[in-house]
Amino acid sequence: MNLMTDHWIPVIRQNGQPDIIALWQITEVDNPVVEITASRPDFQGALYQLLIGTLQTCFAPEDEDQWLDYWQQSPEPDELQACLEKVAFAFELDAVDGPAFLQDFDLPDGETKGISALLIESPGGKTLKDNLDHFVKRDRANQLCPSCTATALFTLQTNAPSGGVGHRVGLRGGGPLTSLIFPKDPSATLWQKLWLNVLNQEELEPAEKIDSSILPWLGKTRVSEKGKITSPAEVHPLHAYWGMPRRIRLTTKIANTDCDLCGNHAELLYQAYRTKNYGTNYDGAWIHPLTPYRFDSKKVNLPLSLKGQQGGLGYRHWLGITLQDNDNGDKASKTVQLYNQERGRIISDSGAVSLWCFGYDMDNMKARCWYESRFPIYYLSEMQRNNLTDWATEFVNAAKETVKMLREEVKSAWFSHPKDAKGDMSQIDAQFWQATEMDFYRLLEQLAMLPEDTRMAPSEIYASWHETLRKQMNHVFETATLASTPEDLNLKRIVTAQKALRIKFYSNKIIKALKAKAKPEEAA
Ligand SMILES: [Zn+2]
Repeated sequence: MNLMTDHWIPVIRQNGQPDIIALWQITEVDNPVVEITASRPDFQGALYQLLIGTLQTCFAPEDEDQWLDYWQQSPEPDELQACLEKVAFAFELDAVDGPAFLQDFDLPDGETKGISALLIESPGGKTLKDNLDHFVKRDRANQLCPSCTATALFTLQTNAPSGGVGHRVGLRGGGPLTSLIFPKDPSATLWQKLWLNVLNQEELEPAEKIDSSILPWLGKTRVSEKGKITSPAEVHPLHAYWGMPRRIRLTTKIANTDCDLCGNHAELLYQAYRTKNYGTNYDGAWIHPLTPYRFDSKKVNLPLSLKGQQGGLGYRHWLGITLQDNDNGDKASKTVQLYNQERGRIISDSGAVSLWCFGYDMDNMKARCWYESRFPIYYLSEMQRNNLTDWATEFVNAAKETVKMLREEVKSAWFSHPKDAKGDMSQIDAQFWQATEMDFYRLLEQLAMLPEDTRMAPSEIYASWHETLRKQMNHVFETATLASTPEDLNLKRIVTAQKALRIKFYSNKIIKALKAKAKPEEAA
């Protein structure tokens, strides 16, 4: 299968009809393609990134004017097809004597693994040996069609967690977060959804020729046995989209059967691959354009990609993922920054967008969970952006204080010796964040609409947030403490804890500051 010329991408068209298309067909205008329909959520995110990476590499607009032209009217399918054909030589999935997509240039020896090991959640060698694959069973996917195989390869190479000695992590570290700008208009085409995330050539150096500095499988692997690293300066910036930390080569095939993942019939399916450790060891100040990073204000540590989080993604991450969180150094991805500074203005009359964020929550080698979230983003002037950053920081900080006291006092209500109790309190945090989320975004939207010369946000918005925090804190406390079985109920302890919670809330410095701004100015 050739990823640039063959039909392999599962999609849905505007009239609801499913289809399997070739990449260039995303620009068809008659009954256009509106969405990818991958068989798993991590594949959905991977296919988006694979297509965005392809457009960025082979079809990047010269400048923002050209970007806008193609935003308003997608290119002719022939035009895109011609560009993709030029790079097709690099995108064979299976090539006996030649480069193959995201696979090692030459891998004569290595360990053979069943194809299901390409899937990130599949149990590792030690788990299998110890018979510990209770939750994610081995051998659920024994044969994969070429489409699922290509997607699984990309998913693994782009998210790769540490996989034991010398099995390298992805270019963004294991399980990075990806953030994609997404049109809210339900009739938006797949072309528009992808194009929103493609940078122009002024923002990202274009490819002069396609070689192994961009697509690493076109040349000998930069192996890392002797600790050799690969830093951004040693390859082309576009390499970021095509990181290949794992040495893999597809091997055993089977003919004419159904794929264990998508269920589609294929003439040829993959059952195994060969792999070896000490592949490319990415190190240095890598910045992937689709990922938010944490920057060290002292510039001592390298930028660190934001990861999927235990407890999920919520509004407490909103600032760092969509703008910039000055408290911890988190900063939106390069594509989101471009939207905030320029692109948002030029497309403001074609409807609103949101930010689609996703990634695994990795526990070292294990994928614990897959998270995705939609965050609101707004196009704002620089002054509005600064105002909103300040206000959102205040709101989130007040919520963080509240959740801290809530957690402590639920513990006091639950246990006679709360300081020694080792219960998992993350559920309490999660309930509080969830209970306050809708109000946060409602108020955020009001704040984002304020004119740029607004120095102080209106007192009623502060009052509303103060009331949300107070109400939901009490609500979560009551649900958590009074929901226990009557014999475990220690009412005295609960009443004492509840009183302590109230006192803490009203005497907290940050909450008091919020309350002060909640009073109308003349009364202040
Ligand atoms: Zn399949």
